[in-house]
Amino acid sequence: MDTKNHSKQPQHAFAKQQWWLFVGELVSFAAIFLTMALILWRVFQPAIYQSVNQGIRVQRQVILGKQPTGGPASQDAYCSIAFRTSILVYNDHGQLLNGNVNRPVNNQTSGTNADQSKYIKTLQQIKLRKTSLNMLRDVRVNNQNSFRTLTFYVPESNPNLAYAGYYVMIVTNTDSERVSVQIFKRVLTWTMLFFWLVSIVLSYVLARLNMRPIMRSWRRQREFVANAAHELRTPLTIIQNKLELMLTHPNDKIVDQTEQITMSLGEVRRLNGLTSDLLLLARSDSDMTQINTEAVAMKPFLENVIQPYSEIAASQDKHFDSTIDLTQTLSIDRQRIHQLIVIFLDNALKYTTTGNDISFTAKQVGNRWILRVADTGIGLSDADKPHVFERFYRVDKSRSRQTGGNGLGLSIAKWIIDSHKGRVAITDNTPTGTIFTISFPMTKAK
Ligand code: ADP
Repeated sequence: MDTKNHSKQPQHAFAKQQWWLFVGELVSFAAIFLTMALILWRVFQPAIYQSVNQGIRVQRQVILGKQPTGGPASQDAYCSIAFRTSILVYNDHGQLLNGNVNRPVNNQTSGTNADQSKYIKTLQQIKLRKTSLNMLRDVRVNNQNSFRTLTFYVPESNPNLAYAGYYVMIVTNTDSERVSVQIFKRVLTWTMLFFWLVSIVLSYVLARLNMRPIMRSWRRQREFVANAAHELRTPLTIIQNKLELMLTHPNDKIVDQTEQITMSLGEVRRLNGLTSDLLLLARSDSDMTQINTEAVAMKPFLENVIQPYSEIAASQDKHFDSTIDLTQTLSIDRQRIHQLIVIFLDNALKYTTTGNDISFTAKQVGNRWILRVADTGIGLSDADKPHVFERFYRVDKSRSRQTGGNGLGLSIAKWIIDSHKGRVAITDNTPTGTIFTISFPMTKAK
């Protein structure tokens, strides 16, 4: 019940974390799309009205008898709006002077008379507003027609008597621009909505993907802690039992209890090894253990490392054979590479029996240097090969216990290989046994 609650708690925490990731991503997407929409809106809308504005300004220059500025572009703008532009003339009292249906107010020649009179009636509804002189102003008539207007006072000195001393309003019909803006607004809104929907799905998928490595490492951490606790408990229980047993014979001499003491000491040694392995792996997880490279003359170094193993192998009636064809001085972490070779040679000794062969080879192949540890021992099945580098993975737990293994050796070896940017491969030896081939890039010492 308790453990259930414990596993539920992180699940709840993960769900919460995933939810916040989802919300964060969704808000980011929304902010990006909104900014994009605003930029498009701010750029596109004025662009639509650009030629209208320019045309109106040119027309004002013409009316005021000035030379239009802006070159051919302004001329084009002027022409493009001329057919839908009217000039309204007001007196000082705001009375429209040229708004007579019988006296067309502009150069509109197309359309029927009925159309024209309707149009003029529409224009008649536009009122002079002296407060917004010389300013572009949008006017909407009957909620149907849109106009952009510019009103200004024409001085009495103006040669054109129709305008001199009056207020002139240039009125350009902007119905087509308004429709374009409306269509653009609609397209923009739907596009944004569509992308927001896509971003909801995307945020959900991304949040799940982002959570995956966190959950994986949490699961691995939990397994690691559980396995470590289990591994630590076994020797501790044995030591406790032995001590309790010795306490039941208080009058015994040490010599009477040597077996119990030896076994307890063995377990203490095991605990010692286990804790230092665990510490090393925990530190490597948090990147606290650093690799300290130094220039190492490989041949004497390797000879030195393997030397005790030929003696141990001989004492166990196993054949040990080594070939070291690596004469360079390389930049490596001496202590870690030593530890790495020890792990593989220890394993080769542990998983072979009397009469078996163990061989160690070091050589250069291309721009890599290779270590190869081969044995003719019990071998590894294809199903076990991919897992042996996992923490606490042991093919045969009871056998490992006898040999003193805790299933951490190859995990440490893998970490050392990775930290030297190396690779490792496991193949079968003939007729039986295993070959571990480790390769590293040549990092020559300077
Ligand atoms: P252990 O301390 O148990 O040896 P390792 O991490 O070094 O742990 O190895 C993991 C497992 O891989 C071992 O328990 C063993 O089953 C298998 N193994 C490792 N080296 C060899 C080998 N040379 N031959 C056969 N099996 C091996």
